Amino acid sequence: MRKLVYLSLGSNLGDREANLRQAMERLGTLGEVVAVSSFYETEPVDVVRQPWFVNCAVGLQTEKMPRQLLAALQGIEKEMGRRRQQPKGPRIIDLDILLFGNSIVDTGGLTIPHPALHQRRFVLEPLAEIAPEQRHPVFKRTIRELRDALPAGPPAVRKLDKLHSPRINADQRGS
Ligand code: ADP
Ligand code: MG
Repeated sequence: MRKLVYLSLGSNLGDREANLRQAMERLGTLGEVVAVSSFYETEPVDVVRQPWFVNCAVGLQTEKMPRQLLAALQGIEKEMGRRRQQPKGPRIIDLDILLFGNSIVDTGGLTIPHPALHQRRFVLEPLAEIAPEQRHPVFKRTIRELRDALPAGPPAVRKLDKLHSPRINADQRGS
């Protein structure tokens, strides 16, 4: 059965925007990418002494089951050259599962909805662009409500201008 899944993409090493675009292209092998947010430049949160990230959110229609999807995402991270060193440290690409339809999963190192989803502006801001009315299956609040409930102030999250936006948007813009 096809499910609508939302992912968070992040990069803070090398050409961060090119890394996100390349990851999106590879996500096309796991299903159909049906929505892509703008790109956001974001201040690191846990390990603060590292380069700023570029983040975005993606909607993916996929037949894969949660654990299969996680394995496939880790495969893409690996193919793109990610080395797991310092936890929460710099990475070429980070692919996290935010929502998996309305499923709730919490076993064997996989937690869906993503355990930090509701606390992170760098996740909620892009996700609210493409899925504002989607409801968090545990908290029963919409993504827009969760975004609006975040405390103001740092860490900073700023939307990059159109020049930096994903190609998929540039194409749709026409001219
Ligand atoms: P980060 O927490 O910064 O994303 P990693 O990408 O190294 O760090 O992920 C650490 C572990 O988080 C992975 O080994 C994975 O099994 C686990 N994990 C648990 N829930 C999720 C989820 N919803 N999406 C992605 N990874 C998850
Ligand atoms: Mg991750």
